[in-house]
Amino acid sequence: MSNGSLDNDIEHVLLSTDQINARLDEIAADISRDYADKDVLVVGVLKGAVMVVADLTRRLTIPVSMDWMAVSSYGSGTKSSGVVRILKDLDADLHGRHVLVVEDIIDSGLTLSWLVANLRSRGPESVEIATMLRKPDAAKVEVDVRYVGFDIPNEFVVGYGLDYAEQYRNLPYVGTLKPEVYGG
Ligand code: 5GP
Ligand code: MG
Ligand code: MG
Repeated sequence: MSNGSLDNDIEHVLLSTDQINARLDEIAADISRDYADKDVLVVGVLKGAVMVVADLTRRLTIPVSMDWMAVSSYGSGTKSSGVVRILKDLDADLHGRHVLVVEDIIDSGLTLSWLVANLRSRGPESVEIATMLRKPDAAKVEVDVRYVGFDIPNEFVVGYGLDYAEQYRNLPYVGTLKPEVYGG
């Protein structure tokens, strides 16, 4: 259990709010340039990508539409299996759209590769991916990620949308948890 103060549960800060904001400025400039003449649909993957979508889209200088999808990946414990179930589907029709999927983190990449195949089957003009964080294992999967915030080490992180037992999503930075937090 958390001991009441959000910061007190953090072992170390991996990415500060300032670092995140600076990187968001850069990625948003890239996206605004790359999609300058295109009709973009930003697809946020709930729940983790909420912060990234909110902060990234507010930095864009181009108009975009936004939609949301929630998927659950069946797996044992903390590892995903690549077997995915749609919990909430998009409202938008993807025919002819330029889809930009926004993710919080790519770990094994299994969820994302399933998601991209699923979206591609719906007739979009293009599907690209932006992720705030990427772990080393993601390299094993053949998903081309166009925009990456940060490559991070293979450790469990929370904050900036990422949870442990549905908590810590509201932490304004990315960090690791103290071991006693997992201990109960
Ligand atoms: P994968 O890429 O392995 O299919 O799954 C990615 C999902 O696993 C993410 O959307 C996230 O929900 C979860 N995940 C992977 N690594 C971490 C991490 O370090 N911290 C947290 N909180 N969730 C993670
Ligand atoms: Mg995610
Ligand atoms: Mg989670």
